[in-house]
Amino acid sequence: MMASRRRKPKWQLEIAKLHINELLDLAENVALKDEYLARRYVEHARRVAKKFNIRFTREQKLKFCRKCNTYFVSGKTAIYRVNPLTKSLEVRCLRCGYVRRYRYK
Ligand SMILES: [Zn+2]
Repeated sequence: MMASRRRKPKWQLEIAKLHINELLDLAENVALKDEYLARRYVEHARRVAKKFNIRFTREQKLKFCRKCNTYFVSGKTAIYRVNPLTKSLEVRCLRCGYVRRYRYK
């Protein structure tokens, strides 16, 4: 990445977003083979997001555990469940047990 100490111009934010997408893709690719490495990618993506004040999209947020950074693979590292009563999608991290609920309409 190019280092600049000035304020962050828009194009830099765009690059950061691409970078985050890339890191999450990488995490997905290694998630089944190397859970630890996948976590490192997620951590890195979150660091970039924080640095550039970029919010993860709803879809991206569903892909990893905000507690332990585990990349979610359905049935392997996480369980997705739809709860019609609360109208929410529940994602349970199988590593740390954290449950996150996302409301849907
Ligand atoms: Zn977790």
